[in-house]
Amino acid sequence: MVNNNTIQQYVRKNILQLAPYASARHEFEGEADIFLDANENPFDTGLNRYPDPLQHELKQQLSKVKNVPVENIFLGNGSDEAIDLLIRIFCEPRIDHIITLPPTYGMYQVSAGIADVEVKTVSLTPDFQPNVEAILEGSNAHSKILFLCSPNNPSGNDIEPALIHQLLQQFQGIVVIDEAYIDFSKHASFSQQLAQYPNLVVLQTFSKAWGIAAVRLGMAYASQEIIALFNKVKAPYNLNILTQRMAMEVLAKYEQVEQWVKEILEERAKLETQLTVLPFVQAVFASSANFLLVKVDDPDHLYRHLVEQKIIVRNRSKVPLCAGCLRITVGTAEENNRLMATLKAYH
Ligand SMILES: *Cc1c(COP(=O)(O)O)cnc(C)c1O
Repeated sequence: MVNNNTIQQYVRKNILQLAPYASARHEFEGEADIFLDANENPFDTGLNRYPDPLQHELKQQLSKVKNVPVENIFLGNGSDEAIDLLIRIFCEPRIDHIITLPPTYGMYQVSAGIADVEVKTVSLTPDFQPNVEAILEGSNAHSKILFLCSPNNPSGNDIEPALIHQLLQQFQGIVVIDEAYIDFSKHASFSQQLAQYPNLVVLQTFSKAWGIAAVRLGMAYASQEIIALFNKVKAPYNLNILTQRMAMEVLAKYEQVEQWVKEILEERAKLETQLTVLPFVQAVFASSANFLLVKVDDPDHLYRHLVEQKIIVRNRSKVPLCAGCLRITVGTAEENNRLMATLKAYH
């Protein structure tokens, strides 16, 4: 079991020794009348001042909605920023590696590739669960980060919580649980387990259920030790003020998000039933997310047919364990009806 002291041992030496950039807004955080410290334009455009580098106001609001203490929150330019920073904090290029469990989200591999960090893969089992034994046996002192995605993209299923607990207890490194789709799942978020696991990082995002993908806002929840590392390496003003304001507006309309989720879940159930009976559909995998992985007879042909009808789905048929599969996002009722009408007329 990893304890708080071991976290420091996983960090790259240059990051431990790094003296972070001290921005003007960071050095002075109190109330004042006149700010002559940051070389800003003094004329009020509504946007002439640098934003709060640690986004206190937004974190306070998020903390209430998500029941995660402010000190355990990092906010980034999409959860993709958190993924990138984690790799740069913990992985020494060409020496350390990360572990991913394909088929899964593509950014772990891309971020590692940019950082010149090796990716070791341990395939999910055919029912899309982690092979815990193979992960633990295949890892060593250079296995710095294990990326789990639950509900998983593109398979849509939850990872069994018992397996996640086992990995959190036994993996000697950082365990990231990407919960981009947690709002659509019946399972509880691991964000409530932070006190138990100092090596746990939970990723969530405003891009899916929360409806503001264009804004680019993602969060990482972790121990204060790990949050301090994020804050040390992030760009000083990584979140602009427009993002912070928009997120606070959305957080204040929490019921709207719940209503969307309810409708999307109803539509998902409807689509699942309707897709299953189509003659060319071999399987619709059970989903805890806002999409369905669907195995069909000739995925490339069907994909092209849908494109011709101006309906775009994701062709995942070349991805491991997803042979024959298209990934279909649940749309509005009208969009789903048009999709189904097109599919019924196909063949
Ligand atoms: C969509 C998605 C994200 C979202 O990333 P953002 O950068 O926050 O938009 C993260 N993880 C997974 C698995 C996703 O599918």
